[in-house]
Amino acid sequence: MIISDLVRDNVKKMKKYASAREEFKGEAKIFLDANENSFGSSSNEELNRYPEPIPIQLRKKLADYKKINDPEKIFLGNGSDEAIDLVMRAFCEPREDSIMLLPPTYGMYSVCANVNDLDIIQVNLNPDFSLNVKKIIQQAKDEKPKLIIICTPNNPSGNVYRNEDIEEILNNVPSLVLIDEAYIDFSSKTSWLERLDEFKNLIVIQTFSKAWGMAGIRLGMAFADKEIIDILNKIKYPYNINDVTTHIVLETLNDTSKKEDMVSKIIIERAYLMKEIAKIDILNEVLPSEANFFLARFNEAKKVYAFLKEQGIVVRDRSEQLHCEGCLRITVGRREENDMLLDALRQYSEEDQS
Ligand SMILES: *Cc1c(COP(=O)(O)O)cnc(C)c1O
Repeated sequence: MIISDLVRDNVKKMKKYASAREEFKGEAKIFLDANENSFGSSSNEELNRYPEPIPIQLRKKLADYKKINDPEKIFLGNGSDEAIDLVMRAFCEPREDSIMLLPPTYGMYSVCANVNDLDIIQVNLNPDFSLNVKKIIQQAKDEKPKLIIICTPNNPSGNVYRNEDIEEILNNVPSLVLIDEAYIDFSSKTSWLERLDEFKNLIVIQTFSKAWGMAGIRLGMAFADKEIIDILNKIKYPYNINDVTTHIVLETLNDTSKKEDMVSKIIIERAYLMKEIAKIDILNEVLPSEANFFLARFNEAKKVYAFLKEQGIVVRDRSEQLHCEGCLRITVGRREENDMLLDALRQYSEEDQS
């Protein structure tokens, strides 16, 4: 696969924005080039200077942590949503190209595709939420989508896909394949990062929003062949990662034990909540999950949703989505939160029967 053949013409031809600091080569003492405020900052932090266009130290540290052999195979974005959007903007010609989605899946993919005015080819998951590999490959060969997005563990179903299935897709489609691993830390499966160098068309994305508990700072990552990452860096906003985010994440990476502890706790809570919730008889089914959420299928999902809402407990109603009839998506919380949810559901169940 030749990556440059997939890039949009305008992206290939354009020059990237040259920031003031990038133009100047040498050792500067006084910075009068970027119209910043030389007196300082009205915050206590020193934030008067523009951040590095690419925070090099952070990228290097992430490469070490993730065991990526070259930091230039990493793109840093304002959340992984930025990476998803930029991949579409770099490779997909509006009103001409298509992408392939595998519903039910994360809603931002179709939002980004709509913003970029791209055709969406849908190949539904099987009713057990596995990949319809034959159909995915056939449609990809017929319709040549520029991009196929595979979310594993999948949101909202929580399941992971078989490695063999994904590998077969990677090897047999004429498209880029983006694997969204937002929830990989909660899964027993290893990341596709281990196999990044085997597939020229593979893009893996991960985020600080879930396992790291840092949704508020907006940091996402894309990992791919350097050629793909260079293109994303060429078209991104010059200062997409702010200094506050960079400093906090650098500090966090000095000691990753807190994240690991939280992930272990969430996995224990997931097992507890799924086991206890399955005992409540308004429930039809609890779907297996390798994420920090799961689907629970109710007889009357909308009524349960409304009841929980009255108690101030908010879950996600996914009952309108394909194969998710009657399903609420429940995020695993802290023990006391999970117990409050369980109490509310038990109360609903008792009132339901009387
Ligand atoms: C939450 C989530 C993300 C994270 O997006 P950010 O922009 O990094 O916060 C990405 N993909 C999926 C499937 C998600 O559920």
